[in-house]
Amino acid sequence: MTAQIIDGRAIAAELRTRVADEVLRLQQDHDVTPGLAVILVGNNPASEVYVRSKHTQTQAAGMASFEHVLPDDVPQDKLLALIGRLNRDPAVHGILVQLPLPSGLNTEAVIAAIDPAKDVDGLHPNNAGRLAAGLPALSPCTPLGCIILTRSVHKSLEGMNAIVLGRSNLVGRPLVQLLLNENATVTIAHSRSRNLPELCRNADLLYAAVGRPEMVRGDWIKPGATVIDVGITRLPGSDGKTRLVGDVAFTEALGVAGAITPVPGGVGQMTVACLLVNTLRAACAIRGLPPPAV
Ligand code: NAP
Repeated sequence: MTAQIIDGRAIAAELRTRVADEVLRLQQDHDVTPGLAVILVGNNPASEVYVRSKHTQTQAAGMASFEHVLPDDVPQDKLLALIGRLNRDPAVHGILVQLPLPSGLNTEAVIAAIDPAKDVDGLHPNNAGRLAAGLPALSPCTPLGCIILTRSVHKSLEGMNAIVLGRSNLVGRPLVQLLLNENATVTIAHSRSRNLPELCRNADLLYAAVGRPEMVRGDWIKPGATVIDVGITRLPGSDGKTRLVGDVAFTEALGVAGAITPVPGGVGQMTVACLLVNTLRAACAIRGLPPPAV
């Protein structure tokens, strides 16, 4: 058996097209152009690449993109003042502070300063709490993408056994809440969990978000399971270049899983597409319009 490879590129492209259609409709019917403001502090090369990609994709979807680049020694109060201005700016419906922030800045305080209605990264405690309480919320983009990828394989996740490896606020914890909303039965595991292979072998849906290259081996996977690999680690390749590796031993998993996301070309593609979805949703909610059809 060879697993179906879940094409994150194609699914993300289709989602971006649907977002662009909705943006056009919003402009035509309500004269609203969703706007996303991204704040980049410092010059972390990986962050610069992500921010550029967000800018390009935001504009391609017909939205307004506002970029704010600050030096890595920016005082915290200046960063908070910028967030305050963006909170009050009616052209801005989504605010994202690119993480990680340079040491010296208090990430929690920075996230807490974002208006929860504009918190398109879904990291504000209000949104995290609402999600945990089963209330409508802006949810973190990568877990949203994981759910969309899973739903491309399974129409319903009801009653399925899911395991989430990793308990970060960015991925593991919100993913658990989204899976519960889908009526899956969820186990969450982390670095202190025992018998990971055994826990994984019971799962119809396996989500790996630990950042440990190829930790999940083929014999951890239940035959036919759907495997969503969130992990991204850059390793030196044999040709002197670097290559991206997921948390799952892909070649081994191909022979056991029913469906699997590749790295790259899987979850990573969905994250920015879901950021556009969140910005669109935030714009509709802020303007008192019904949620968009995406
Ligand atoms: P993180 O904050 O470092 O969290 C990692 C989690 O994995 C922690 O909960 C940790 O457990 C757990 N863990 C570490 N080693 C483990 C082990 N040996 N066994 C079981 N659990 C273990 O990372 P993150 O931000 O969630 O990101 C996870 C991975 O996803 C990274 O590779 C990151 O690059 C990738 N990522 C990809 C995207 C995307 O768009 N594709 C987006 C975000 C993140 P403890 O809590 O016990 O320490």
